[in-house]
Amino acid sequence: MPLDPETLAKLKFLVVDDEAFMRTLISRVLKGLGAVQVTPCEDGRAALDRVVTGADVILCDLNMPGMDGIEFLRHLTQTPFAGAVVLISGEDQRVLSTAESLAKAHDLNVLGALSKPITPAGLSTLLEKLAAAGSATRRRGGPVDRITEDDLRRGIECDELVVFFQPKVRVHDRKVVGVESLVRWQHRERGMIPPLAFIPVAEEMGLIDALTDAVYAKAARQGGRWLADGQDIKVAVNVSVDSLNRFDLPEVIVGTAAAEGLDPSHIVLEVTESRLMRDIRSSLEILTRLRLKGVGLSIDDFGTGHSSLEQLKRIPFTELKIDRAFVFGAARDPAARAILDSSVNLARNLSMSTVAEGVETQEDWDLVESLGVDMVQGYFIAKPMPADQFDAWLSDWKG
Ligand code: C2E
Ligand code: CA
Ligand code: CA
Repeated sequence: MPLDPETLAKLKFLVVDDEAFMRTLISRVLKGLGAVQVTPCEDGRAALDRVVTGADVILCDLNMPGMDGIEFLRHLTQTPFAGAVVLISGEDQRVLSTAESLAKAHDLNVLGALSKPITPAGLSTLLEKLAAAGSATRRRGGPVDRITEDDLRRGIECDELVVFFQPKVRVHDRKVVGVESLVRWQHRERGMIPPLAFIPVAEEMGLIDALTDAVYAKAARQGGRWLADGQDIKVAVNVSVDSLNRFDLPEVIVGTAAAEGLDPSHIVLEVTESRLMRDIRSSLEILTRLRLKGVGLSIDDFGTGHSSLEQLKRIPFTELKIDRAFVFGAARDPAARAILDSSVNLARNLSMSTVAEGVETQEDWDLVESLGVDMVQGYFIAKPMPADQFDAWLSDWKG
């Protein structure tokens, strides 16, 4: 049953296409179906700025100069956007379906893909899925209300950030060799807020350094406690390349670790890119000095960005984390499996260790084991947990 015009009128649509003609055409088709709030965006960057102010459905062209559709989707997963996506392309169906599965693997709610030229009937069929799910589904669960700078600053100052830990297990003996530290915000009014809802805000508002410091301090303290308990567990913390602009960072990282009784080799920084322009030289220098001091460096979400290979060449990473888009369900997806396999070989040739993220089933585990992946992280082992739960889990796991 087609979505009724009343519902369509309430939804906010973004139309992202580099061609003015296509923007007009798609907007017209939407309005013909009953949509009222339609905002055209000439590129991904403009769309990302709009996302923060609220959008329910994004219609995105895959072929755009500058930031292409795939890159746009990757950045979108780093925002609080919790609406639905329709992919549009003039390319053949294979490109569309690969893009669709990549987006789904990143928990985006993809209604489907349309080949150009799009028709009212084709679009209407996809939008019907919104009705089935009960309005624009908030699958990613983040609060869509804008988080304000003041509130986030207050949250950080009032110690409302909490750190969860998810185990990294060595494949050959199933030993827990590390944890990834994942931040959450225990908001005094809004309850637990997931990281993707406030990290982009922190980056945008210049609060990311304060956030990283708070998370790192808690993670290092916990790592020190584990070591004192006889648990030799490496502690990984996420940092975005853009925040690598403080030249004293290597000293701060190593100094804080030492204060908790940890050697630099107990610390791993998981490095990702985000959407801001960055000063490559300063981040390169900082990462190299961290490595020289013995801190582990992991290239996160490997396989999803354009510059991943480029970065591998430039930065002395010790660990490669294969994105879960190429892990979960890879046993039944030849393309994902090929990427997984070649990532493992690449890492081996560069003497890096490998971590497969997003292992959710025995089938996923068996596949990564057969391909020679070193470590596994995913719901199949355990979800991220607060430190006390982690300790209980760990004693069960060992026992
Ligand atoms: P990430 O670095 O890729 O972290 C892994 C995410 O995958 C976590 O989501 C984790 O809960 C989830 N995950 C783990 N195993 C599975 C699995 O088997 N299946 C599925 N579907 N998901 C799995 P989380 O905790 O929501 O974190 C999301 C992202 O937020 C992280 O992605 C990271 O980019 C960012 N983030 C989290 N904490 C921090 C932080 O302290 N600083 C910065 N800069 N970013 C952070
Ligand atoms: Ca990570
Ligand atoms: Ca990741």
